[in-house]
Amino acid sequence: MVPMYFDNNATTALAPEALQAMLPVLKENYGNPSSPHTMGLMAKGAMDHAREQLATLLNCDSEEIRFNSGATEGINHILRGIFEALPKKRHFVTSAVEHPAVLSVLDYLKRHGAKLSYIGVDSEGRLDLAALESAIRPDTALVSVMAANHETGVIFPLDVVARITKEKGSLLHVDATQAIGRLPFDLQALDVDLLTLSAHKFHGPKGTGAIIARRGLALKSLIRGGTEEGGLRGGTENVPGIVGMGAAAALANEQLHEMDRIRSLRDMFEKKLKSAISDVHIHGSKTQRLPNTSLVSFPDRDGEELMLGLDAKGICVSTGSACASGSKGISHVLKALGTDPTLAKGTLRISMSRYTLESEVQTMLEKIISIPS
Ligand code: PLP
Repeated sequence: MVPMYFDNNATTALAPEALQAMLPVLKENYGNPSSPHTMGLMAKGAMDHAREQLATLLNCDSEEIRFNSGATEGINHILRGIFEALPKKRHFVTSAVEHPAVLSVLDYLKRHGAKLSYIGVDSEGRLDLAALESAIRPDTALVSVMAANHETGVIFPLDVVARITKEKGSLLHVDATQAIGRLPFDLQALDVDLLTLSAHKFHGPKGTGAIIARRGLALKSLIRGGTEEGGLRGGTENVPGIVGMGAAAALANEQLHEMDRIRSLRDMFEKKLKSAISDVHIHGSKTQRLPNTSLVSFPDRDGEELMLGLDAKGICVSTGSACASGSKGISHVLKALGTDPTLAKGTLRISMSRYTLESEVQTMLEKIISIPS
């Protein structure tokens, strides 16, 4: 039995076109992009092409892109780099619902003297913009917020966040990991300084990602050793990964319209689920969400048990963020939403992709409804 996959906020399937683009640089064109000979130049050319493809998806300058291993690395690089670069500015502002990749680095910085302000959300997961405005102070080095939440899918209003942050004179980092390929991005129109992403969330390969550092903002080197990626990250580049990410970015751009179909499928799923089980709670459904995400709580149920029951029936879903699902207890995101613990305990995250079929959603829905209470 091939499992039906509804855990696309954890990771997505590699697009066949991305795999095809990667094969030649794994097999024949395996040169080192730093080598000045023909094979090296071919590898560099493939990497430059990928940089252009990603720049087109984000509408940014290709020179603002620095390739890396993904969002966790990018977030470490940015938060730790800014902390080191601005010793007179010790204050960082973030939201209470960020991914652990952000929260744990900030925790680490706190132990080294950083002052932190966490901005709360309401019961729908909406960011408290008034609290954001009053939290930013003259010694705020950086505001770090996500574009969209990994559990609820709730989208933060980045245009407003950027306006507030800029008026107050702070730098802004956006963790766009869940939003790339699911929402349009136009970095010419959005005043962010730094952005992080991972290719595997938009049908690219795992272990590849990028930082976008705007307007030549000088980050410090993360890995010393070579001049790769403008000296920011020494070491021979992951050319196949980068090429795969470029192809995935080009596809994400072409296929963004598919998200309308996915939104209809998600809405249909939620409507039918609610009519079958009237007391389910769908988090963030009254506000702007990613089109692919549904975070559903079943009162008096155990999310882990539900997830394992569905897995036995060939349906892969999550109990929340992939990183948190191995650990016991209620996710910090649901805590920040003020969700009742008995409700939070019975939570499943269903996340679709542009490859999700209507027939799969129907089957998944039937299996959820048929789980005995
Ligand atoms: N930020 C968000 C919002 C995420 O959802 C994730 C992964 O789930 C990350 C950062 C970390 O991404 P990666 O594991 O690819 O480094």
